[in-house]
Amino acid sequence: MACAESFTCKACGAFVVPEGAGSQHRNHCPKCLSSIHVDNEPGDRASLCKGIMIPIGVWIRKNGEWAIIHRCQLCGTLSSNRIAADDNPVLLMSIALKPLAAPPFPLGRMEQIVNKLSEKSYEHKQ
Ligand SMILES: [Zn+2]
Ligand SMILES: [Zn+2]
Repeated sequence: MACAESFTCKACGAFVVPEGAGSQHRNHCPKCLSSIHVDNEPGDRASLCKGIMIPIGVWIRKNGEWAIIHRCQLCGTLSSNRIAADDNPVLLMSIALKPLAAPPFPLGRMEQIVNKLSEKSYEHKQ
C-alpha cells in the first residue's frame, strides 16, 4: 500500500513515517501539511503531475471532522484530504484563521457594523 510508506517531504524535507497518523491513509506531510499531486482520483496514484500541493484551506466534513484543501502549485488542481492525528495543529489553525485575519473589508468598518448591531439589539430589549 503506497500511502503506508515512509517518504521525505518534497516541500519541507521532513522524513515522514506512517506511524502516528492514526489512519492508514497518510497523504500529506504532518509538519508543513503539503502533499504531492499523485492522484487523479483519491488513492489511484495515476497523476503524472507530481507537483507540490500546498494547503490553502480547511473545511469541516458532515461528521465534524476537519479536512484540508490542497492546491497543486503546478497545475492548480484542488483536492480535499482528511487530517491525520499528528498533523501540525498550529499550522492547521493558522490556515483556518487566514481568511479571518485578512477580511475583504477594513476591520475599522467591522467595528461600526458590530456597534450598529449591538445598538439595535439594545433598542429591541427596550
Ligand atoms: Zn513537509
Ligand atoms: Zn498538479
